Amino acid sequence: MKHFSDQNSLDRIIFNFSHYSKEITQILNENFNKETVELIVDKKIWGGKGSALITMSCLGIDVPPGFIVNTSLCSYYNSYNSIPSEVENKIKHAIQSLEDTLSLVFGSIDNPLLISVRSGAPISMPGMMDTILNIGLNDEIVEGLSKKYNNPRFAYDSYRRLLHMFGTTVMQIESNLFDLPFDYLKISEGVTSDHHVSVDGLKKLINTYKNIILEQSKEDFPQNVYDQLFRAIKAVLDSWQSKRAIKYREIYNISEDLGTAVTVQAMVFGNLSEKSCTGVIFSRNPSNGDNEIFGEFLLNAQGEDIVSGIKNSLPISIKMEKSWQIINNEDLSISIPESMERLMPDVFVKLKNISKKLEYFYGDMQDIEFTVENGRLWILQSRSGKRSSLASLKIANDMVEEKIINKKQALKIIPIQTFEQLLHCGLDYSFIKIPPLTCGLPASPGAAVGMVATNVKDAELMAKMGKVILVRNETSPEDMSGIAVADGIITARGGMTSHAAVVARGMGKSCICSVSGLFVDGKNIHINGEKFPSGTYLSMDSTKGEIYLGQIPIIASNIPYEFEMINSWINEYKKIDIHANAETIGDIESAFSLGATAIGLCRTEHMFFSPERIFYMRKMILSKDHSDRVFNLDILEKYQQHDFEKIFEISKGKAVTIRLLDPPLHEFLPHDDKEIKEFCIQSNSIESDVKLSLAIKKEHNPMLGHRGCRLAITYPEIYIMQVRAILCAISKLVSERKVSEYELYPEIMIPLVSNVNELAICKKLVQDTFDDFCESLNDNDLKNSLSKISYKFGAMIELPCAALQADRIAEICDFISFGTNDLTQTTLGLSRDDSANFIATYVNKKIWNNDPFVTIEQSTVGELLKIAINKARSSNPKIKIGICGEHAGNPESIPFINSLQIDYISCSPYRIPLARLISSQV
Ligand code: PEP
Ligand code: MG
Repeated sequence: MKHFSDQNSLDRIIFNFSHYSKEITQILNENFNKETVELIVDKKIWGGKGSALITMSCLGIDVPPGFIVNTSLCSYYNSYNSIPSEVENKIKHAIQSLEDTLSLVFGSIDNPLLISVRSGAPISMPGMMDTILNIGLNDEIVEGLSKKYNNPRFAYDSYRRLLHMFGTTVMQIESNLFDLPFDYLKISEGVTSDHHVSVDGLKKLINTYKNIILEQSKEDFPQNVYDQLFRAIKAVLDSWQSKRAIKYREIYNISEDLGTAVTVQAMVFGNLSEKSCTGVIFSRNPSNGDNEIFGEFLLNAQGEDIVSGIKNSLPISIKMEKSWQIINNEDLSISIPESMERLMPDVFVKLKNISKKLEYFYGDMQDIEFTVENGRLWILQSRSGKRSSLASLKIANDMVEEKIINKKQALKIIPIQTFEQLLHCGLDYSFIKIPPLTCGLPASPGAAVGMVATNVKDAELMAKMGKVILVRNETSPEDMSGIAVADGIITARGGMTSHAAVVARGMGKSCICSVSGLFVDGKNIHINGEKFPSGTYLSMDSTKGEIYLGQIPIIASNIPYEFEMINSWINEYKKIDIHANAETIGDIESAFSLGATAIGLCRTEHMFFSPERIFYMRKMILSKDHSDRVFNLDILEKYQQHDFEKIFEISKGKAVTIRLLDPPLHEFLPHDDKEIKEFCIQSNSIESDVKLSLAIKKEHNPMLGHRGCRLAITYPEIYIMQVRAILCAISKLVSERKVSEYELYPEIMIPLVSNVNELAICKKLVQDTFDDFCESLNDNDLKNSLSKISYKFGAMIELPCAALQADRIAEICDFISFGTNDLTQTTLGLSRDDSANFIATYVNKKIWNNDPFVTIEQSTVGELLKIAINKARSSNPKIKIGICGEHAGNPESIPFINSLQIDYISCSPYRIPLARLISSQV
C-alpha cells in the first residue's frame, strides 16, 4: 500500500492510471472498497478528479487513458513559478506511454493523439479552475485529423475550441472577443446550433481567432504541441491562484496549501458525430432526492458547453422530457425535446448502471460527467453530488432503507447546511394576490425576497442596504462574490447543472435558472418585454420556480418526514448535549422544537431593551442613591418576574440557565441629545443633571468596565432583584399549579467572573436572597415546595484570569460555561465592537486563518479552554461544563468543541439542528 500513498514528492510525481489500476486491484484483492481505495489513492495527493479516475479504472469503468501529476507540483510551482526540468521529462515519458497504449502519436499529422489538461483539487471546487481540451492540434494536424476521421466539421470544430480555450485560459484574452465572431457567424449562416456551422465558416473563424490571439497577446498561437501542453499545465496551476478560486476557498474555508493536481488525458470526442454527445448526470434527483437518474446532455458537443450552461441541453430520461418541455416551450418552440433514453437507449442503460455502481461504491449520490464518442460511453468524472436540503434527507434515508449505507454513514453524507436551509423555505401564499411574473427551472429550492442586482459590484453594494437577488443572463465563476452576498440567484439561461444551479444548491441559496422571457441588459432586466430597473423588489419561490414582483413574506418550510427519523439517528451518535441561547418566548419555543434539551444561556439584560423597560433601566443606572435605585429595581422586578413565569412554564422539565445582569452600561444609556431630551421629559429630570450623571458614568472602555458581576459587587441590590424575580415567578407557577416544583430546574449563572473571591460573594448573595425569600413566605406549603427546588449555581468563564483559576472557581460551582465571545476578546486583546474593519485584512494576510470571533482560535482561546477544563475537573470531577459563545454554533468550531469532551454546547435556536448534526458526525 505504501507504494502508492507516499508519492507526495517531486520524484514520484506521476500516476498513470491506465497502467497502475490493475496493480491496485490486485494488491487490495477482496479488500477492494471505498475506504481501502481512499487510503491508497489519497485525494490530497492526486486531487478529487484524479482519485476518482483511478478508482473508476480499478472498477473497470471506461475512462479515457491518461496520467495525473500530483499536487506537489502545484506547491513547487507556487513557490518558484516554474516546472522543474526533471518533472517535464517525466511528463514527456508519460505522454510516450500514452502514445504506446493508444497507438497514437502526440504531434503526428496522420495519426494524432489529442489530450485534455484538467485541474483537480483535493476538495471539489466546481468550475473554479481551468481545463483545456483538444491540445495537440495545429494548422497541419487539423487537416490530418480531418482526413483520418473523414470529418472536417469535427476537426475544425475541435481546433476552434482549442484556440478559444487556449486564448482565454493560457493567454488571458477575454472570452467575449471569441464569442462575438462565433455568434456573428451563426447569424450570418442562419443557424442556431454550434454544430450546424459550415466547415468553411469554421475555417474562417479559426483565422479570425488566430488574429485575435496575435493582436491581443502579441504572439502567434503555438504550433508546437509540447509547447501547448506545458503552457496548458502552467495555466491550470495558475488557476489555483485565480481570483475566483481564492474567493471560493475563502467562502468554503479551503486551505490554500492543498494545491491542485493536473490530469492529462487522451481526448474522447463528444463532437465527432450525431452519435456523440457530452453530459452531466446525477445518480438521484438533486432537487427532491427521488431515486431516478437525473441530468442533461448535448448532442455533438464538448464538455465545456454543458458545464457552463450556455447551450440548450436535452433531458437525460423520458421522465424528464415533460418538465423540459414546460420550461422551454414558450421560448424556443421546441416540441418535445427527445431524451437520451429515447435517442441512445443502449448508452442510457449503460450510464444508469454505471451511476448505480459508483453510487454503491462511494455510498453517496454521484454527480457524473460523461462523453459518448460514436456510441461508446466514457466517464470523465464522478464525485458526490451537490443537492438541496430536502433531497439530502431523502437520499440519506432512502440509501439506508436500500441497505447501501448504514445510519452512521448516512449522517456523514448529509451536508451540514441542510438543517439550516430547511428552516427558511417558502413564500407565504396568503399574501400572493397576483400571478407570477415568470417562471423557470427550480434549481435550488427555498425562497428569497430582495432587490434586483444585475452585477457583482451592485450586489455587494446593495447587500449592505438590504436583501439582494442577483439576476444574470448566466453566471460564471467570476460571479462568486455576488452569489455569496445574494439571497437568491436568477438566470435567464442554464440548466439544472449550470454553474448558478450547482453553486447555489451548494450554498443553500434559492436559485431559478432558465427563466422564460428574461433578458438582462446592463442595469435593467426585461421580463416578457417589460423593463424593471435594478433595485426592483422581486420575490422568488425556487421550490416551484416562480418569480413575483414585489415583496412577499417568507415562512418556514414544511419539515419532511425524514427529518424525524434522521434526528433519532443523531440522538444515537451524538455525545454532547445541545442547549439554546434564548430568552424570548418565540426563540425558546423554536429552540425546543428544533431539538434543544435545555436553555443554556438566558441573557437577562436582553429583557430590558423595549422602550418601556429601558426607561426604568436607565433610571436605575442613573439613580441618585440606594433608595432611588431600589425604587426602580422594584419596577424592573415585576417585568422580570413576568418574563420568568413564561419562560419556566414553557421550559417545564428542562433546565434554564439564567445569566444575571451583564450589560456594559453604555448599551443602555441614552446615546445622543435627542435620546437625552426624551429621557428628561419622560422622567421629569433636569437635562444638565442627567448630562452630569452620564458624564460620571461614562466609561472609556466599557467592555472592560463596570459590567458583569462587578455590578453586583458594588450594587448587590441588582442581583438581589433578579434572584427575587426568579423566586417570585417560581412561587407563582407552583402555587397556581401551573408547574410542579419537580419540573423546575433553574440554574443561576454569574457573568464575567475574574476570581473565586468575587464569585463567593455572588454565591452568598444568591443563597441569602433565596433563604430570605423562603423565610418571608407565610404559606407553609409553598415554603415546603420551594425548599425542594435545588437550583444550580455556576460561573461564566470569559476572562483568561478565570480560566487559569478554574480549579478554584469550580470548587464552589455546580457548572461553568465558557463565554467564548468575551474570552476571545480578552485573550486576544481584541475589541468585539471595534475589530470588524481590520479582521478581514488580518485574515487576508494570514495572520489568522479565520475571524476569531466566528471560528474559535484553537491555539490561544482553545488552549485556555483545555487548561480550564482540566483544572475544573481536577477540583470538581462532577462539574457540568458548557460553551455558550457564538462559536458553539459555528460549523468549523463544533468538531473542536466536541473534542474537548464537555457536557453541552449552547447556541442560537436556528443553529441547533446544525450543531446536532455535526456533533453526531464527529
Ligand atoms: C460570551 O461572552 O461568549 C457570552 C456568551 O456572553 P455575551 O455574548 O452576552 O457577552
Ligand atoms: Mg460575555
